[in-house]
Formats: sequence, C-alpha cells, structure tokens
Amino acid sequence: MKKVIELKNISKAFGGELILDDISLDIYDNEFITLLGPSGCGKTTMLRMIGGFEHPDCGDILFMNEKINDVPPHKRNVNTVFQKYALFPHLNVFENVAFPLRERKVPKKEIREKVEKMLSLVMLSNFAERSVTSLSGGQQQRVAIARALINHPKVLLLDEPLGALDLKLRKDMQQELKKIQKTTGITFVFVTHDQEEALSMSDTIVVMSEGKIQQIGTPTDIYNEPQNAFVADFIGESNIIDGVMLENYRVSFSGHTFQCLDAGFAQGEQVDVVVRPEDVDIVPLENAMLQGVVTAVTFMGVHNEIIVDIGGFKWMIQTTDSASVDDRIGISLDPDAIHIMKKSKYSGMFGDYSSYSNELDELSDPGGEA
Ligand code: ATP
Repeated sequence: MKKVIELKNISKAFGGELILDDISLDIYDNEFITLLGPSGCGKTTMLRMIGGFEHPDCGDILFMNEKINDVPPHKRNVNTVFQKYALFPHLNVFENVAFPLRERKVPKKEIREKVEKMLSLVMLSNFAERSVTSLSGGQQQRVAIARALINHPKVLLLDEPLGALDLKLRKDMQQELKKIQKTTGITFVFVTHDQEEALSMSDTIVVMSEGKIQQIGTPTDIYNEPQNAFVADFIGESNIIDGVMLENYRVSFSGHTFQCLDAGFAQGEQVDVVVRPEDVDIVPLENAMLQGVVTAVTFMGVHNEIIVDIGGFKWMIQTTDSASVDDRIGISLDPDAIHIMKKSKYSGMFGDYSSYSNELDELSDPGGEA
C-alpha cells in the first residue's frame, strides 16, 4: 500500500503546554483512518496540521514523499469537512457543490456532469434546486461532503462531522460515509471521540491520549489486543486485573492460575490482565475457577450486565444468563478470554467496576444524591 501522508516526530505546544508529543503516523492510499480519543487529547490539532492550518514546532509532514510543512492549506491536495458545515446560505444545493468548480473556471457542461454525479453519490439528486437552509442537518452535512469531494482531493479530513446529528441519523450517515469513501477511493482521516463510531467505520484506528498515540491498529486488533489499560478501557468495557506472568501461556490473578495465549513476558513479570465482560462464563460453583457475590444486575435488552465482587474486585459480566443480587456465582475463563498487557502509566486507573455499581446504587436509591 502507498503512503499518502507521513507524520514524522511531530510535536506542538500551545502556551507552554505540550499538545502533541512526538507523533509519528503513516496514512495510506484509500484508507479510512480514524483519530480517536477523549476531548483535549490533540486529535483536532493533528488534523489541522495535516490540513495546513497549524504548524508543527518540530517534526515533518510529508505528502506523497514530499515535505509540506510550509505549504499553505489551499495548495495541499487535501480538503476538510467541519462539524459546522459552513454552506453558502444564499446558494442552492447544486451551486454549493458547484462552487469549487466555478472557482477553477471549469466549463459549464463539465460542472453539470460532475455535480450531478456527486449529488447522486450523496443521495441528493432530487434536491439540486433546493435552498440549503431548507434541508435537515443530515442533508446539509451531505452537501458539505459533496462540496469537499467535488475537486477529488487525495485526502478528505473530517472533524467530528456527525457530532451535531441525532443518533439514528448519525448511524445512517456512518454507513453512507463509509460507502462514499469506498466508492471514491479517497483517503478519509476522520476525528471522533465516539469509540463505537470508530469501530464501525474505520480500516485503521489511532487511539490517542494526552498528545500521544497509544495504539494504531484495525478495529479488531484494538478491541481484542489493546496495548495498555487506557486503550482497553476507552474501547468497550473491560475488567482489568493485576496479574503475574508465571511463564509463557500461564498467568496468575485473583488467586488462581489460568492458561492464556500470551507469551514473551519475563517470568514473574507484573502485568495487567484484560477480560472483556462478554467473555466471562458463569458456571456451577463446583466447576468455577473463581467465585464471587453478585452486587448488581441490570437488564440491558439483549443481555444482563452483572457486577460480581470477586475478592474485593468488582467484575462486570455481560451474559444472557441471569442471576440475582447476593447470589454466589462461579465463573470460568477460556484461554482466549484473557489478554495480557504490559504495565503502563495507566495501570490501576481503570477496569474495576466498583464505582459503576455505586452509580447504580445511587440511581436506585430515592434518598441518594442522584
Ligand atoms: P476535542 O474533541 O475537544 O476537540 P481534541 O482531542 O480534538 O479535543 P484539540 O482540539 O486538538 O483536542 O486540543 C488539544 C488541546 O490544545 C486543548 O487543551 C486545547 O485547548 C488546546 N488548543 C488547541 N488549539 C489551540 C490554540 N490555537 N491555542 C491554544 N490552545 C489550543
């Protein structure tokens, strides 16, 4: 695969505070890549840097192997779609999309052909003559996308473009955007803080925290093989337990020794063990690897969410089995339910559902503060 953009050791500070800390990232041709992380982690700054709206303090940005640090935004073969669509209210749909072509003095016939094709791609063929101010949020967003794509940039940058839409429309637009990206073959760099959105749309996810890249990978890699407790917690739900690696494929935690699929750690190395709530099996007590007492049960529709106290650590289990508060239950873990991570600065910060069950207690307690 061909690299389109390379960020090489990029750092950026604002007012003495380091916002991007030695970022290196390769972005490939025809890739749907998502920058994912909590508010303030630096993803928008990174996107703006690719667009040419911010400049790195140090490091280089390459576009098709050429350094573009000092190339202004309009000379980069890159376009941006912002959360606020910035459409021209006095122009109709057709003219909004045609605008970049008219700027370039493209012949009229060609403009008509190109705009009609683009409106068909974003499913707005019947809206060409409509005023943009009469459109719904989702339709306006599609006009903005069509306008950004009409000059066929090599790369389209999208900064939380679905943030203003309601949930149903957002889900529909996620599918549409993915389709548009695959149809056009244009590289999409998408910014979101919504992990579900990132998992469902992306070829590659870049998880960021505090100005650093925590992990780069496919959605399944990131979900199944998180590299540290931050990633494990940020993407989906995770039980994260202190463990000790006894040898390759054997780990000890919660007072029991488990078979796992992980190797390459030092003998006796302290590790973080991740177990996803849907991978925990509830079994009869006599077959249990671990036992605990149920402290909360929430019916979620397709499954129950059960909080169980195992030796003072509160696990979350998602299961179609049922249990009641105060039941003593047994659990079992298959080797592939266990994922081992190196200790990191995020160890101990996430992955215990004590506060989660407190939250539920408060919610169900009419006398509580909530
Ligand atoms: P969000 O999802 O909230 O937009 P983000 O991950 O996109 O967050 P950035 O917008 O990149 O984060 O901002 C990262 C940090 O840099 C924030 O603390 C922000 O206040 C700061 N920042 C961004 N741009 C500037 C600027 N031009 N001047 C000063 N500080 C800035």
